[in-house]
Amino acid sequence: MESVIQVKNLTVFYENNQAIKNISFNAEKGNLIGIVGPNGAGKSTLIKAILGLEKALGSVTVLGMEVNDVRKQVSYVPQRNQIDWDFPVLVEDVVMMGRFRHIPWYKRAGKKEREIMIDSLEKVGMLEYRKRQIGELSGGQQQRVFIARALAQQADVFFLDEPFVGIDVTSEDIIIRLLRQLRDAGKTVFVVHHDLSKVEEYFDQLLLINKELVEFGAVKEVYKPDILSKTYKGSMTLFGASNDMMVVSN
Ligand code: ADP
Ligand code: MG
Repeated sequence: MESVIQVKNLTVFYENNQAIKNISFNAEKGNLIGIVGPNGAGKSTLIKAILGLEKALGSVTVLGMEVNDVRKQVSYVPQRNQIDWDFPVLVEDVVMMGRFRHIPWYKRAGKKEREIMIDSLEKVGMLEYRKRQIGELSGGQQQRVFIARALAQQADVFFLDEPFVGIDVTSEDIIIRLLRQLRDAGKTVFVVHHDLSKVEEYFDQLLLINKELVEFGAVKEVYKPDILSKTYKGSMTLFGASNDMMVVSN
């Protein structure tokens, strides 16, 4: 299989706090990968370090290159609480931002760009809201618009940080369906995910972290009580055997 992301000894410090420690893994093309771990485990930090948005020690290659050289092919949907939802911008303009890296600075967005924007909004069921302010929408609708922006970018690698937090069931269904389609089309999708109950249903592979990498592998191999308790330490209670395991995050 083709390697998409190679991470070696990735380490991030905030002041004296080591948020992630010596994380190494290789991810292959065409997978839907969940990044899981307790609050403060460094999930968001890991994504930002891979994207070059946070200063890190160690090395990262994306599609065999430095991330700065493949920005166009990498799409990022930040955690909802990192977005200023009061910023006055129309839904269609948010999605057009996904095209900016594709448009030379001396050109205006043309017909093709608008078609991609319309198609992306249609895929998330938000086309009729295109002239609305982003701040007027519900949480789920806002998240769908950000997914449309990521789709419009036509990237090969996607990073979504807790996309299902604070959204309605319909939006969650639409988003997971789209992420599966991307995976089936050979894209690689990373999703930071907090709620363990959907992990087996949603992901092909899991990357379990708690500052350090605990385990990375197929869901079948790593979604196991011993690995989960190592990841969540005291912050979780497990009931039952592996197949009908119930997990309660404290
Ligand atoms: P997660 O996404 O798994 O909840 P984060 O990556 O957000 O974890 O945070 C990991 C650790 O780094 C936490 O202890 C958090 O408080 C700290 N941290 C995150 N961002 C910053 C920052 N910008 N400055 C200082 N500390 C931070
Ligand atoms: Mg986070």
